[in-house]
Amino acid sequence: MVAEQLRARGIRDERLLAAMEEIPRHRFIPASLASRSYEDGPLPIGEGQTISQPYIVAEMTEALRLSGTEKVLEIGTGSGYQTAILCRLAREVVTVERIASLLKGAGKILPELELENVRFRVGDGTMGVPEEAPFDRIIVTAASPDVPAPLFEQLAEGGIMVIPVGARWEQDLLRVRKEGGKPRKDLLGACRFVPLIGQCGFHD
Ligand code: SAH
Repeated sequence: MVAEQLRARGIRDERLLAAMEEIPRHRFIPASLASRSYEDGPLPIGEGQTISQPYIVAEMTEALRLSGTEKVLEIGTGSGYQTAILCRLAREVVTVERIASLLKGAGKILPELELENVRFRVGDGTMGVPEEAPFDRIIVTAASPDVPAPLFEQLAEGGIMVIPVGARWEQDLLRVRKEGGKPRKDLLGACRFVPLIGQCGFHD
């Protein structure tokens, strides 16, 4: 997976490549699909949700430019695989998931992998976690119609947010930097995520 899907496609961050080499992705995949854990695509994780393609996890994480000192907010815990990678690369992680059963699953696996620098929250991540703000980095792993205002507000000055923005079925992956209180947006590429459902996301 790391050699063929990540290195060969241009992922260069060695800390990230090492983390993806070491975190057992199969632990985050339902048992019936375990043999497909290292395939080059997303997989269903129940509740109509998916674990992202390994390359997308790498691309988004690399775009966050983590050095190990950052406080990170993740919206859309899902399987917890992306969360585990963030735990390895950042100082602390706050992760929010709207579906309690998924959060419970992730909350069980991460401590088993000795990843303890994370706090789990159930709720609408489009509102962020104001009492924990500001965040040096924010990663949203579900598709949003726009950059949710509360999330941009909770991003630290000089901070970076990575988020898929667009229509329900196809989006642009954006890196948004906060400079002088204003957003500076770069397009990373096209992508397809399950929808971000919430007050500042899509409506059910
Ligand atoms: N990073 C995860 C991706 C899971 S898919 C993984 O690789 O496993 C996106 C997740 O976002 C789903 O679990 C979905 O339930 C969650 N989600 C959607 N809207 C949300 C919201 N408003 N707040 C928190 N989580 C949300």
